[in-house]
Amino acid sequence: MTVHFVQWDTSLDLMKEANRLYDAAGTFDCIEKGDLVAVKLHVGELGNPYYVQPFFVHDIIRRVKEAGGKPFLTDANTYYHAQRNNAHDHMVTALTNGFNMAPFIVADGLRSENYKTIKTKGILNEIEVAGVISEADAMIVVSHDKGHELSGFGGAIKNLGMGCTSRAGKLRQHRTVGLEINESKCIGCGKCKQACEMSLPEIIGEKARNISPLCMRCPLCADACPTGAIKLVHKENLCRALASAAYGVISTFKSEKVSYVSFAKDITQYCDCLPGPGEVVMKDVGIFASGSPVSIDGAFLKMVDYKVFNDAYHVDCLLQVQEAKTIGIAGEVKPKIQGIS
Ligand code: SF4
Ligand code: SF4
Repeated sequence: MTVHFVQWDTSLDLMKEANRLYDAAGTFDCIEKGDLVAVKLHVGELGNPYYVQPFFVHDIIRRVKEAGGKPFLTDANTYYHAQRNNAHDHMVTALTNGFNMAPFIVADGLRSENYKTIKTKGILNEIEVAGVISEADAMIVVSHDKGHELSGFGGAIKNLGMGCTSRAGKLRQHRTVGLEINESKCIGCGKCKQACEMSLPEIIGEKARNISPLCMRCPLCADACPTGAIKLVHKENLCRALASAAYGVISTFKSEKVSYVSFAKDITQYCDCLPGPGEVVMKDVGIFASGSPVSIDGAFLKMVDYKVFNDAYHVDCLLQVQEAKTIGIAGEVKPKIQGIS
């Protein structure tokens, strides 16, 4: 499956270029008159300046309407407690960050209670897909390519797998990662407990212990540990879980009703969920459009030196893409990339 691409060339009118890209890729061909069209995006965490620029989203909304669809912006609430943890805060964040071009409907409800449990393939048996997404007629998945501490990088597959699932679904995916505490290295300082937003580690007899089923395997306690006693293990399972969850999300749509646009710009060290996303680690690349999440993520990885993420996070970026292909999501891991002319 060919991926269409426009280079990030600021000597050109990038809005116009993006529209030429959508035409070449047939981005809006998945829309039929009257369709309720989810425009799935990440509205950015407050304080993080790196997310898809709202003017591009304005234009995507305009194109959805032109195609006869009824567009709405959507994203599911986060598991962690920040500014997108419930529908109220999420909507305020969306407006603050400039996403006012269409109604913003939080995909999984006020407190993430709205989801459907869907059977899937791969490492997970089932996944909790956000209710609003499962009911939409079509979806345009707008992603921002960047690094990710647990999965190497985040693009369209992550936007589907993690971004379109409820808190229960997010926890299910994160729990595929293991957490080990090396007792011999632990000095009982309690910094892990302080760093954890749920204070989950227990300090018993001057040693830390974490057996809580609520632990989401975020790296905060490991990052805070002064002796390196805490280690997240089997991160590759999260890559597989993202692919598995993505399969479940896509399966709630009829064939060819989902289209993908990815922005490889402001490619940061860490993901959009953090208020401090770290440094921009790669030169701006451009915008991709495709009918496949496998191909669009594969195209991004084909065009950049993603070893920088592999080395930093000790997980292979390509794994989530290969796994998605293996379990049956259509597309190519190393697709043909067609520049627009
Ligand atoms: S990984 Fe650590 S910081 Fe994160 S939820 Fe689990 S115990 Fe808390
Ligand atoms: S931060 Fe590290 S050393 Fe301190 S109690 Fe937790 S595991 Fe032990």
